[in-house]
Amino acid sequence: MNVNHDHDLSAADGAVSDAEPLLEISELEKYFPVNEGLLASIVGETHHVKAVDGVSLTLTERETFGLVGESGCGKSTLARTLLRLEKPTGGSITYRGHDLTELSNRALRPFRSEIQFIHQDPSSSLNPRKRIGKILRRPLELHRDLDKEEQDAEVRSLLDRVGLDPGMRHRYPHELSGGQKQRVEIARAVSVNPTFIVADEPTSALDVTVQAQILELITEIQDEYDLTLVFISHDLRTLRYITDRVGVMYLGEMVEVAPTETIFENPKHPYTQSLLSAVPEIGKGESEKIRLEGQPPDPINPPSGCRFHTRCPLAQEACAAVKPEPAVESSEHQYLCHFTNPNTRTGTVGGPTGVAPDQLRGTVPEDRDD
Ligand code: SF4
Repeated sequence: MNVNHDHDLSAADGAVSDAEPLLEISELEKYFPVNEGLLASIVGETHHVKAVDGVSLTLTERETFGLVGESGCGKSTLARTLLRLEKPTGGSITYRGHDLTELSNRALRPFRSEIQFIHQDPSSSLNPRKRIGKILRRPLELHRDLDKEEQDAEVRSLLDRVGLDPGMRHRYPHELSGGQKQRVEIARAVSVNPTFIVADEPTSALDVTVQAQILELITEIQDEYDLTLVFISHDLRTLRYITDRVGVMYLGEMVEVAPTETIFENPKHPYTQSLLSAVPEIGKGESEKIRLEGQPPDPINPPSGCRFHTRCPLAQEACAAVKPEPAVESSEHQYLCHFTNPNTRTGTVGGPTGVAPDQLRGTVPEDRDD
């Protein structure tokens, strides 16, 4: 698989720069074939959905990293791939100095307890035929050296820790509310003393009133267990509340990475700006929203040059022809765009940043080339 070196938005250091790296991914790719076998032989080649395409990122100990982007941008696939729930088709994943990229399931087993996943919808992730106590006891049997009595005590303690009555261990998942099931999911994730948790939209299936309680529980648990957390959400307000840094994904690529407050106060990529403009705020008018035309392009055949050019309100001729190199606003802040972009709302574009001037000469309108 070809490695795409044009999309290296390595992690910004930011507020967590002094911490040890926990997980490093480099040029990570996850392509899904869509026409294998006979179909591929008829058309002469195999086509792929490029769900994750050349993403580089470093996560540090105890950091909370938010991933945001439209549905289908690849954020969940990125999370599943870096947990090795999906096998990467290119690039590398290094966890505490161990290369996990090519390890078999058996070889990955020692790492499984350290790296956990909180699912979006606990109704589908909790086995409906097993009582809660049995569901929570299973990871203890697999990963911790406890006898039966200690396991029962641990199950009661875990339920209590996530705010549930220990008596609930006798119930089945369908007897619990959505919020209670998500608490069980969190208890299961922390039962094996992990160091790293990925939470994939853990509040999106819940009532609004319950969402804040679950967020609060996740932040408490993170503090208590010194966890590194990747929090996936389409809701930027949630990410502002819970994360240290944010990565913005578009069509399989990480298009901007920065400390959370920088993303909110000084977003550079036009896509990030459009996402932020859609966040409801008191006093914000409709005219302040940046509307993107059309749907995200087909990830089987992504646009040439900058992948965002088919929807970008600032796209220019060069954008379709030349892939952007990462523009470095600071050591903490990088984005994939040819232009600095101080004020999208008036359509103003600054000067070229990530592309050689001769590549753009003659393609940027004069009133924008300053
Ligand atoms: Fe928009 Fe061009 Fe920047 Fe891409 S490179 S985000 S199309 S201005």
